[in-house]
Amino acid sequence: MTLNYNEIVGKFDRYVFNTYTRQPIAIRSANGAVVTDVNGKEYIDCVAGIAVNNVGHCHPDVVSAIKKQVEELMHVSNLYYTEQQALLAEDLVNLSKMERVFFCNSGTEAVEGALKLARKATGKKEFIAAEHAFHGRTRGALSVTHKPKYRTPFEPLAPSIFVPYDDANAIRSAINENTAGVILEPIQGEGGVIIPSDDYIWEVREICDKKEVLLILDEVQTGFGRTGKWFASEHSDVRGDIMTLAKAMGGGFPMGAMLAQEDIATKFERGDHASTFGGNALSCAAALANINVIRKEGLVKRSEEMGKYLMKKLNALNKDYVKEIRGKGLMIGVELSVKCDDIVNKAREKGVLLNCTSDSVLRFVPPLIITKEQLDSVVGVLDEI
Ligand SMILES: *Cc1c(COP(=O)(O)O)cnc(C)c1O
Repeated sequence: MTLNYNEIVGKFDRYVFNTYTRQPIAIRSANGAVVTDVNGKEYIDCVAGIAVNNVGHCHPDVVSAIKKQVEELMHVSNLYYTEQQALLAEDLVNLSKMERVFFCNSGTEAVEGALKLARKATGKKEFIAAEHAFHGRTRGALSVTHKPKYRTPFEPLAPSIFVPYDDANAIRSAINENTAGVILEPIQGEGGVIIPSDDYIWEVREICDKKEVLLILDEVQTGFGRTGKWFASEHSDVRGDIMTLAKAMGGGFPMGAMLAQEDIATKFERGDHASTFGGNALSCAAALANINVIRKEGLVKRSEEMGKYLMKKLNALNKDYVKEIRGKGLMIGVELSVKCDDIVNKAREKGVLLNCTSDSVLRFVPPLIITKEQLDSVVGVLDEI
């Protein structure tokens, strides 16, 4: 099974939905922070599968946990108990300070669960979300995702109100008798790595408590060490009523979760929500191994340190086309005064994978295990460009 690049792309053109803009390389393997294409060319990966491979590609501990589990038990459904799901639920509750977990398979599915739970718990139907928010592509999650291009063809969606991000008063004013909850990313990812002021999430927490609406924190992208804390809400010392996780949760294996505080979680009764694959033994074994790697290798701290290092180096670059550089941990956005496609293409040719979000923001979300030397090479390539 060794198709060349043209054969692979030919089959995509013929058989796969045209929903993605893909970079013109086909990847064959990856290890740590390095990805190798089918021609043997290597790239330093600053995308990490969109903030997924926090522990690096094919981390040996994750690989061996999956190999071991795959031979013993992959899937039995949630009609039965498994040890792996029990252990992972305990681990996640302890790490997140939430109280119960519902397992699913992706970010959008976690958000769907969160919205359903908030509706059931409050008996209300509407949500308040932020401008430029991204929460996923299925219908519930899409109803709180802001970008008109993503939403318009699929309207009518569930009712929601969008308010400016980083403006707690706008949330205060928007809450009304129909509001079930407020959903926010603690740092906006797809919206362009937007970091709110220090007390924003904390103020929103206070408003939600006072007005008795639920706060849903979407940590699908910011979770598992990405921002220099296990979860970005720790930066403001705030707990949500509901929290969503996915992307980096399974160390590269598809995995998601919706967590809630006890009094809310118990509003979901038997049959209110379900997922066939959710929390199967294989995905739970991958997630358990992933969490242990983050712990064992001190990757949360490392994210903070390497993030500072990369920020410093980026700030020292020529800033002719740079509007702003912002970041927390290894979640960094460089907002340009031009579209970033050209830079992404040139960087790839020079062996660095970069991602562009919101047209003009270069988003750096490399594996947390990336080395200083690798970051030096990345910045060197940007300097040349
Ligand atoms: C990526 C993302 C999602 C959607 O996750 P999928 O796994 O692609 O469905 C939801 N919320 C946030 C904050 C995300 O970054």
